[in-house]
Amino acid sequence: MISVTPLGFPRIGARRELKQALESFWKGDSDARSLHATAAALRERHWRLAREAGADIVPVNDFSLYDHVLDTSVLFDAIPASHRAAFDEDPLSGYFALARGLQDGRRDLRALEMTKWFDTNYHYLVPQFEANQRFALRGDKPLAELTQAQALGLEARPVLLGPVSLLKLGKRVDGGDPRELLDHLLPAYAELLSKLKAAGAQWVQIDEPALVLDLDDADRAAYRRAYAALAEVDAPQRLLTTYFGALGDNATLAAQLPVEGLHLDLVRAPQQLESVLPLLPEDRALSLGVVDGRNIWRADLDAALSLARRAGARAKWLAPSCSLLHVPADLELEKKLPTPLKHWMAYARQKIEELRLLADALAGNADAERDLAAAASARAARLASPLLRNAGVRKRLAAVEPAMANRVSPYPQRARLQQERLNLPLFPTTTIGSFPQTAQVRRARAEHKAGKIDDDAYRSFLENETVQCLREQEALGIDVLVHGEFERNDMVEYFGEQLDGFAFTAHGWVQSYGSRCVKPPVLFGDVSRPRAMTVDWTRYAQSQTDRPVKGMLTGPVTILQWSFVRDDQPRADSCRQIALALREEVLDLESAGIAVIQIDEPALREGLPLRRADWPAYLAWAGESFRLAASGVGDATQIHTHMCYAEFNDIIDAVAALDADVISIETSRSRMELLDAFARYRYPNGIGPGVYDIHSPRVPSRAEMSELLDKALDVLEPAQLWVNPDCGLKTRGWPEVRAALQAMVQAAQGLREQTTAEVS
Ligand code: GLN
Ligand code: ZN
Repeated sequence: MISVTPLGFPRIGARRELKQALESFWKGDSDARSLHATAAALRERHWRLAREAGADIVPVNDFSLYDHVLDTSVLFDAIPASHRAAFDEDPLSGYFALARGLQDGRRDLRALEMTKWFDTNYHYLVPQFEANQRFALRGDKPLAELTQAQALGLEARPVLLGPVSLLKLGKRVDGGDPRELLDHLLPAYAELLSKLKAAGAQWVQIDEPALVLDLDDADRAAYRRAYAALAEVDAPQRLLTTYFGALGDNATLAAQLPVEGLHLDLVRAPQQLESVLPLLPEDRALSLGVVDGRNIWRADLDAALSLARRAGARAKWLAPSCSLLHVPADLELEKKLPTPLKHWMAYARQKIEELRLLADALAGNADAERDLAAAASARAARLASPLLRNAGVRKRLAAVEPAMANRVSPYPQRARLQQERLNLPLFPTTTIGSFPQTAQVRRARAEHKAGKIDDDAYRSFLENETVQCLREQEALGIDVLVHGEFERNDMVEYFGEQLDGFAFTAHGWVQSYGSRCVKPPVLFGDVSRPRAMTVDWTRYAQSQTDRPVKGMLTGPVTILQWSFVRDDQPRADSCRQIALALREEVLDLESAGIAVIQIDEPALREGLPLRRADWPAYLAWAGESFRLAASGVGDATQIHTHMCYAEFNDIIDAVAALDADVISIETSRSRMELLDAFARYRYPNGIGPGVYDIHSPRVPSRAEMSELLDKALDVLEPAQLWVNPDCGLKTRGWPEVRAALQAMVQAAQGLREQTTAEVS
């Protein structure tokens, strides 16, 4: 009998209970006991939910208070020397100090660097290893969670991030190769595995998503060494899990590693079943990832069934393609989704139900076979629905000519005209767009949504916030202002709500990092723009100040990337549809007299395929979409773009090819490391390397920011350099924002004075 086992479940809670518990703990409104109690209750609820939906075995240790990669670093005692004292004093506040930084008068600790988890919108904290890092098992998180599940009478499978992926996701402080640390790390894993066995775990799930990446010889050697060593341990049986793509040229490696089970992502790579099967030893059990853990559409159950049949007797588990962390918890909570749409969708719980149905149908259960046929026809109904197609959009797209994706003149010419128009000082200061979304702002939005305050009252509230925000920026001495984005719930949702082809959920929350969640829009059909989306607010803001106000748009790739996208046509096609709609918006902003327009593309990098061979095709359509959106304007209109948490080194030419007049990027957490790429490439246009890490409440000093700017000037021309934070300020509070921006403006002024002095 094949059993159903998810690889992981969303941890934030269907009603974001973990978020509330975390934020109240951080504010000091509740204590560690109540945080741990909420966490334990959520785990139990999720196990029961999975169980009731049809899971035979539940995952444990997939839960995390902040991030499972951070948990793994801590579990093996990879705690930076700077944070160790805080940790020894109080492990929980040490843990959060690593996640968010800690500034308490006594200490000033930085947060770990944060970056995207493979090609998802989930962020993990980058493990930071000392040059001669030693590892040890610290605490008992996986064991405690196993015990908790067992006490509830559940069959549980602990989930661990595997040693090679852990090292490959991390960095060594001395810049050395983290894989050299493998031999020190393995004994700690071995100790944990034998403890799990002693605690009664039959199987352990070891996640090695790095196995779907391009690997080199050292990686392959590390894999062989690691799993040979772990095979010596008296451990539970090992299920090696790979996801987010095909094993490809690593298939032989993965098939030969001495483990008892292997999980394959058969949603992203259904064809790999046939190629991997013949490579596997006789006795290797398979976990088949046949339901999409990355999207919210009902599965193609016929295809899944046929895959499972083809896998034959080796198939031991049916599973989603990857952890369900990347989808919302339960579709049942959605009461307001338009009817056909809800029938087309599945969240975590429904995905487990689909797997149950498949498992039962495979076992020859007649009811299940009938339900399966019904589910398959629901999917067919979606694909045939006229709601998916808009003839006007298709016609306009067919008429797009290549020249529409290019600016009129080359950058130097544009820069001159823009400077004549804007008259900005050297090292112009700006922010990335949003200002603090205070409790008051969120309350007003909720009350307006609930009909408790009318449109006029809400509008004047927002006007007031916007004007105050402009006054704050003027008082701080910022050069290019923003309106503050108070009318926006989320940078993608806000646009999706106004575009045709998108639908909205009420409970479709997905964790982005820590307590932060996003509610991705559902892009189900052809996309078009029925009316202007941002022009009113931008025009209003510009009417309230003499300084230039930046129009603020989310770019086509990011809207695509942060939505749940239809799976019945290439993503590139959906992206171009969004781009065309945004192009209309850009032109409307320009006609409204807006001189600077920022098109945010923070997700450009994360959309990059995991395999290099697939990059050029992606970069071509993604870049073309951006330029299609941006390039309708005249030379004197300045186009900005913004990207965060991106490793640019390998895509710098594609970033340059976007031909934005100014780009602002995240750099402060990585201490300007990213700039290397821009330096080596001699990036020609304006660039604002973020000098203030906005993902942490810590206020950087002027000196610190000056130092970062000096570093930037080592590799950039003064005329190129803009001064700005890393990202939008919506998650921050006003007092810290005011203090940090004041220091930032002073740093820019200091630099101006220094430069003028040097010149004269
Ligand atoms: N303009 C957005 C903001 O300031 C950009 C956010 C982002 O890059 N993630 O909030
Ligand atoms: Zn950003």
